[in-house]
Amino acid sequence: MSELAYPYEAPASQALFDRAAAVTPGGVNSPVRAFGAVGGTPRFMVSGSGPYLTDADGREYVDLVCSWGPMILGHAHPEVIAAVQEAVTRGTSFGTPAEGEVALAEAMVERVAPLEQVRLVSSGTEATMSAIRLARGFTQRTKVIKFAGCYHGHVDSLLAAAGSGVATFALPDTPGVTGAQASDTIVLPYNDLDAVHAAFAAHPGEIACVITEASPGNMGVVPPLPGFNQGLKDACAANGALFVSDEVMTGFRTSRAGWYGVEGVVPDLMTFGKVMGGGFPAAAFGGRADVMAHLAPAGPVYQAGTLSGNPVATAAGLAQLRLLDEAAYDQVDETSRQIQGLVGEALAKEGVAHRIQTASNMFSVFFTDRPVRDYADAKAQESFRYTAFFHSLLANGVYLPPSSFESWFVSTAHDERAVRRIADALPAAARAAAEATA
Ligand code: PLP
Repeated sequence: MSELAYPYEAPASQALFDRAAAVTPGGVNSPVRAFGAVGGTPRFMVSGSGPYLTDADGREYVDLVCSWGPMILGHAHPEVIAAVQEAVTRGTSFGTPAEGEVALAEAMVERVAPLEQVRLVSSGTEATMSAIRLARGFTQRTKVIKFAGCYHGHVDSLLAAAGSGVATFALPDTPGVTGAQASDTIVLPYNDLDAVHAAFAAHPGEIACVITEASPGNMGVVPPLPGFNQGLKDACAANGALFVSDEVMTGFRTSRAGWYGVEGVVPDLMTFGKVMGGGFPAAAFGGRADVMAHLAPAGPVYQAGTLSGNPVATAAGLAQLRLLDEAAYDQVDETSRQIQGLVGEALAKEGVAHRIQTASNMFSVFFTDRPVRDYADAKAQESFRYTAFFHSLLANGVYLPPSSFESWFVSTAHDERAVRRIADALPAAARAAAEATA
């Protein structure tokens, strides 16, 4: 697709992107923001309010990305902003313990039963990296099982994928990760318990933990088949390994207690980020108190952070969690269902093969007529249709994730007006998807 093929130009964003490219690799600070999968000019946003984002060209979009999940109350929620302003006036970082981090940890522990103790960090990547280190330190074992298509941040040992079907030692997924780092990672196809049992049988006494997204959203939304997470938990328990559930995306998003609240499978360790930070860099890992007791300074496994438990971030996260009562989740779930219905209707009307997959209010649209159960299924979709769909919606003021391998997110701020704007933009987008060619 050439530049001219995009429905309209975004000159102010393009100028910023050019400036950015001179000083930042690829012009962005996180790769997916560069629109590499869909082409065109990434929109530089200047403000957010409720369900809307406004770009540097002054165009307003209904935001269905919500900062990749965190903004579950919409942008610039007045009570979150007030909590941040109040915190900022008292100073932005102390490098000492402070009450806000205790209060946030208490709020998390109160909501998520398996979370007996929690350690705050600054990003989801740090949370999963630290959880893996702790699992290795606790079990005194080296190997980790992960699943193809599950993303746990850019932790060296977890940036590994492998051919599907059988347990294989992973090859590094990116230059800069050594074979040694990747060789302790076993990558298996998602939703395949037989492969998990085979890996445990092939490596007796060697596997420290199984890490999985509680319900994956990083290959598009591919929920666990019934019994899969419980099967992982049981296999770990039977083999002396820890079950690590990555709830960075689902935590405090798919219910008040995250995906744990939906399914009830009890992990040994869990990781969190996104919603719990209220749009600030805050994340966490936690779980069984006897395992967490191995963490420094209580125990020997080292882990630390200059800005961990930052007072402004914890104030934002706490304000957001306090506003998220059952009614808020009911509302987000209902809005999500409405949007799913509208998308399905528009695509069906144009005869476009698609599957809408959901995990509570998280959902994504796959351009395929088959169920998507793992990464191989996800990759078999007709992504070129998503590109056309994406650009048509963007042109008409709806901002989707710039990749077909992502979840869509809604917030309590997505009201009737925002939903109507999506509904109005969908017929043309469905037509564009129908007419798209590979
Ligand atoms: N784990 C999951 C499930 C994620 O979705 C992400 C980020 O999208 C991460 C970990 C990494 O979090 P961060 O981007 O804050 O490092």
